[in-house]
Amino acid sequence: MLTAEELIRSRRMRLTPQRRAVLALFLDQPGKHWSADHVRDQLLPSMPELARGTTYKTLNEFVRQGILEELATVDGSLLYGLRLEPHHHFFCESCRNWYDVTARGLEQLRLDGLTNHLVESVDITFRGVCAHCQADQKAPHQTPPAHTP
Ligand SMILES: [Zn+2]
Ligand SMILES: [Zn+2]
Repeated sequence: MLTAEELIRSRRMRLTPQRRAVLALFLDQPGKHWSADHVRDQLLPSMPELARGTTYKTLNEFVRQGILEELATVDGSLLYGLRLEPHHHFFCESCRNWYDVTARGLEQLRLDGLTNHLVESVDITFRGVCAHCQADQKAPHQTPPAHTP
């Protein structure tokens, strides 16, 4: 696994403390999807001068480089996650956690009704209730195990 610094250099991006800190946050906790504000909140203790605008700009640069993905949620907010490997998502309607998943059989998918359209990527979101929430629901009288979104 590349470090944040190596990854930034490999994309010929200029290495700034902000870029390194933002990317390191995602690399340290792969599989997480955060809003820009949540990213900033996590970095503020070590980077009190980190502005909101800089956070957004940095995230967007990584999206443009294909390092981060941008997920539009139903409530209109944007979430960012690592996108080093192509993946799809499972969204838990209960804890509202986004899980990275790989899926089989997608090669069989065909578009109906559109001809001569070029498909460049496919993003699929499976929706339902995750295993943690199902376990919580089956044992309502117990303290639910701490699983953080
Ligand atoms: Zn859940
Ligand atoms: Zn993801």
